[in-house]
Amino acid sequence: MASDQLSVDFNAESQASPARVVMVSGGLASFEAARRVVERYGRTGVHLWFADTLMEDEDLYRFLDDIERILGMPVQRMTEGRNPWQVFEDERFLGNSRVDPCSKKLKREFLRRRLRSKFHNQAVIIYLGLEWMEPHRVATAQRYWEQDNYEVDFPLCWEPFLFPQDYTSIVRQYGIEPPRLYAYGFPHNNCGGGCVKAGLKQWALLWRTFPDRYRWHEEQEQKLRRLLRKNIAILEDRRGGKRRPMTLRLFRWRLENDEKQRGEGKKRLYETLPDDGWACSCFSSATVGGADQEQFLLQTTSGEPFNSLTAVAVT
Ligand code: SF4
Repeated sequence: MASDQLSVDFNAESQASPARVVMVSGGLASFEAARRVVERYGRTGVHLWFADTLMEDEDLYRFLDDIERILGMPVQRMTEGRNPWQVFEDERFLGNSRVDPCSKKLKREFLRRRLRSKFHNQAVIIYLGLEWMEPHRVATAQRYWEQDNYEVDFPLCWEPFLFPQDYTSIVRQYGIEPPRLYAYGFPHNNCGGGCVKAGLKQWALLWRTFPDRYRWHEEQEQKLRRLLRKNIAILEDRRGGKRRPMTLRLFRWRLENDEKQRGEGKKRLYETLPDDGWACSCFSSATVGGADQEQFLLQTTSGEPFNSLTAVAVT
């Protein structure tokens, strides 16, 4: 990418009468979205909002500081006050790869309340860091935010169209490092790599990279199972063609046993795991088998607490 494409006219005259709110997640894509909004409209009327889930990676806060320095404006940091596990406990519902009450409560509903209270008399345009190669997620997010009459725009769908590796080059051209989770192999910088939608491969990566953090999640899951008295788990064991809840504890035992017992020259278990995670979609209501998550959640929580073993997409 030519460096002249990266130049940002921070003194550009703002044409904004609406408030322009960029939802910053702490990842590279949302940084690039924020950078493009500031480049196009200047700083006046632009707000960078970050909703903290209280289980973020430490290095995310360093990256937010860098964003503030590069863009010359504050990232407004806010929190609903709970972490995802506290939400699961309060909702009596364990998030999993298909339904994420954590992002519903800590990001979407929380931010909608904030938007209503801060801009009740003003038009608002929301900017999200979804990419041009994911039109389905873009359409879902658009539907989600437009239900409250917010205009929504996607700066990564503006030209020039870039790929994720370009975002890394861009932040390095500003002399800063991307959030460290990417270097460890995590696809996103959300919730410290411990996302309930992440799937087996990413949870194995968390176990290898941050064993203490993995153990903390394991304990939270055990605590919730005891509280709800249900055989529930974030992950699924699909060996033998059957789907069963697989606790983080059981998964860790499998990974540890593999380390002890693996034969000479054999691949490590975590190298053979399927990449069965879903994208976070924290700022939109992602779909489950074609249905909006909010609808799915509604229909699966009306009776007993949801058990991931019985998850069936609403079609
Ligand atoms: S990143 Fe994952 S765990 Fe964190 S709030 Fe979003 S869906 Fe929930």
